[in-house]
This record gives sequence, structure tokens and C-alpha cells, in this order.
Amino acid sequence: METQIIDGKSLVAEYQEKMKTQVERMSRIPTLAVILVGNDPASEIYVRHKRQVAERVGIVSELFQLSPVMTQEALIAFIQELNANDKVDGILVQLPLPKHIDADAVIEAIDPNKDADGLTSANLGHLFVGKPNLVPCTPMACLDLLKTVCPVLQGKNVVIVGRSKLVGKPLSQLLLDENCTVTQAHSKTVNLKKVCHEADILIVAVGKPNLITKSFVKKGAIIIDVGINRLKNKKIVGDVDFKKMLGHAAAITPVPGGVGPMTVTMLLHNTIQISKKRQKNN
Ligand code: NDP
Repeated sequence: METQIIDGKSLVAEYQEKMKTQVERMSRIPTLAVILVGNDPASEIYVRHKRQVAERVGIVSELFQLSPVMTQEALIAFIQELNANDKVDGILVQLPLPKHIDADAVIEAIDPNKDADGLTSANLGHLFVGKPNLVPCTPMACLDLLKTVCPVLQGKNVVIVGRSKLVGKPLSQLLLDENCTVTQAHSKTVNLKKVCHEADILIVAVGKPNLITKSFVKKGAIIIDVGINRLKNKKIVGDVDFKKMLGHAAAITPVPGGVGPMTVTMLLHNTIQISKKRQKNN
């Protein structure tokens, strides 16, 4: 069996071209405020990449790099200022935050109508009651990549490994809305191998290199690998043993170059949606 490598890059290029045209037609350029607390090197790289892509699409991206010792109260007050700032459309808080700050409380401080990551309870709630507003970026990215190789998802047996608020849970809801039969696995799942082997579509969002080996995967299954793991030799790999899937899986996303770039694209998609809505309401 020839395994199709799901080409994140070409889908990203297509989306970004469309977004650029949308932005050019808008009466005001959308603005995304990116908050980075501290100077974690991985976060700095992610933020830089997000800003580069924003620029490519024509969106203004303002970076606010704040002190690592900033208090939670001060950070929330800063977000409230951005909420009230008419010039700001989307707000993104780069995670993780320093340990002394409760990330949930900070995310909740974002105005749900400016929530570019779609992670506030209000936006997750809209998704779960079937009225999506701003949807988390990584789950949207997974769904769009999946549709390039499997346009009809109805009836598919999907196993998602991981149940975080950021990826696993909202993705499960998106796939239920596509009429898939969804199983959500996690660290307490008994016999993960057997559970994964049932999947027509296996999505892995854990953060453990090579967690998923060939024996976990049914021949001909489609694999979406969300994991990003930096090895000691600095190489970036996913959660799935990619090489062993070649000739075994029907299709797989590469890491890097799969879900990651598409996630950034979805962030900009959300920012444009926010800006369009705000421009319409003004
Ligand atoms: P979290 O740490 O929040 O969640 C990890 C999930 O994996 C948890 O539900 C946990 O279970 C589960 N888990 C942990 N160990 C096992 C195991 N041995 N077997 C089965 N399940 C296990 O991570 P995130 O969801 O935030 O991120 C997951 C991965 O995706 C990371 O590598 C992250 O870097 C990457 N990521 C990539 C993005 C992209 O753009 N490509 C965006 C976001 C994340 P339990 O709930 O029981 O603890």
C-alpha cells in the first residue's frame, strides 16, 4: 500500500492566498494582539512564526512581551485593556504561562468575541451546543487536513488519543458533528493498542514521541499526528512512529509540516472572522 503524505503545506498556501484576498477587500486591516509572558525559547519561536504568517496574509500582529514575574492580576488587567481597545480584533495568549499564573483564569479574561484561539468557556460552550462561534485552531486544522484525504467522514470510526481542552475534547465534538463514531482515549485508557487498532482514523495528541507504533494501527487507517516533541538531538517528531507507517497506513500527516502550519493558518482565519464581525457591527 502506498501511504499518502497529507500535504499541510499546499493546503496552507491555498488558505493563505484566499485570506490575503479577503483582507485586501476589508475596509480596515485586522489586528491580532499576541501576548507572550516571559522568554521561553520554544514559545518565542512559535510567536515569531505566527507573526510572520500574519504579515504574509496582511494582518497586523502586535506582540506584547511581558515580564516572567508579572502577577496574574496584572496580566488580567492588561487583557482587559486589550478587550476595551477598539483597534484590537483578536487576542492570543501564548501558552504555557509561568507556573505562578493560572492559565484558565487568564484565558477566561479574554472577551469571547476577541478570543482568536477559541479557548474561552463561552466559545467551547458554543461548540458543544452545536452553535460554533470561534473554534479552537488545532482541532479545526486536523479536520481540514483530514477532509483532504477523506471528504466523507460520516460513519467513520475515529479514535482520538488525548483529551485536552486545547485539542482532544473540541476535536471530538467537531468529528461528532461530522457524524463520526468517536472514541476518546487518554492516559488511563486500558489496552490503548487494542482501542487504537479499531480506528479507521487515528488522531494522536499526547506529546510522547513514538507512542504509536505499527501494531497500534489497522492497515489502511488514516493518521493525524498532532504531537510536537523535541528530541535530545533537537529533531522535531510527532507522537507516531512515522517511518513504520509508510506502506501500512493509507495516509499520515508529517511532523513537522502537517498540523502545525495549518494551526497557525486557522488562528489567522479566526482573526479575520472576528474583524469582519466587528466591522459589520460598527
Ligand atoms: P496535554 O498535555 O494537555 O494533553 C495530553 C493528553 O494526552 C492528555 O489527555 C493525557 O491524558 C494524554 N496522555 C498522556 N500520556 C498518555 C499515554 N501514555 N497514553 C494515552 N494518552 C496519554 O497536551 P496538549 O493536548 O496540549 O498537546 C498534545 C500534543 O500536541 C503536544 O505534543 C503538543 O506539543 C502538541 N500540540 C501541537 C499543536 C500543533 O499545532 N501541531 C497545537 C497544540 C498542541 P490525561 O488526560 O489522562 O492526562
